[in-house]
Amino acid sequence: MTQRNLVLLGPPGAGKGTQAQRLRDDFDLPYYSTGDILREAIASQSELGKQVKEIVDSGELVPDDLIGAVVEERLNSGEADDGFLLDGFPRTIGQAEMLEQALSKLGRELTAALLIDAPDEEVVRRLSGRRTCVKGGHVYHVDFDPPKREGVCDQDGSRLVQRDDDKPETVTKRLEVYHEQTEPLIQWYSERGLLRRFEGTRTPEEVHSHVRATLATLAFEDAT
Ligand SMILES: [Zn+2]
Repeated sequence: MTQRNLVLLGPPGAGKGTQAQRLRDDFDLPYYSTGDILREAIASQSELGKQVKEIVDSGELVPDDLIGAVVEERLNSGEADDGFLLDGFPRTIGQAEMLEQALSKLGRELTAALLIDAPDEEVVRRLSGRRTCVKGGHVYHVDFDPPKREGVCDQDGSRLVQRDDDKPETVTKRLEVYHEQTEPLIQWYSERGLLRRFEGTRTPEEVHSHVRATLATLAFEDAT
């Protein structure tokens, strides 16, 4: 069986999360976002988990090599033998090299780095128009998906607010960080022939079918 060892890249608001969810449904792949796997490592109380907990409790940032070790533990656990979906890792070239080595120890390699891309102005438009209900977390958009009554959640009648993360100045800051961190990674994967780019400005359905077609092509190339 063909493995689907996948890394997801892309700016906030380009629809990476939506595509991740669809890929998980399609292929039943384990999904590893950095936050989730660190939390799960802590909960498992493994040796690594204890180290992570100590650092998190002290308020420090978890260093690259420890995140790498936690990822490696999961790749080794048997649950990811047919593939995986990594989101938020790697974030730096150092981490990408770590992943490459971890896979190579297992006699495996990355299938593709899927970049769900969108221009900055589109990201700002999407995120800064987002409104979230304070009670149930239901999400609306002032232009694309407005509630029936302005400022009020259709589902539970509670108040809609703009999350701090979605304020224009925060979005701009998040984009700066994204470009600084991720552009070298895009270049790195591109040089290795692993980058596949998708237009996040298309509808989620279009992006999804494009991703599926690309993965099918890669599986075919792999089999021949
Ligand atoms: Zn609501």
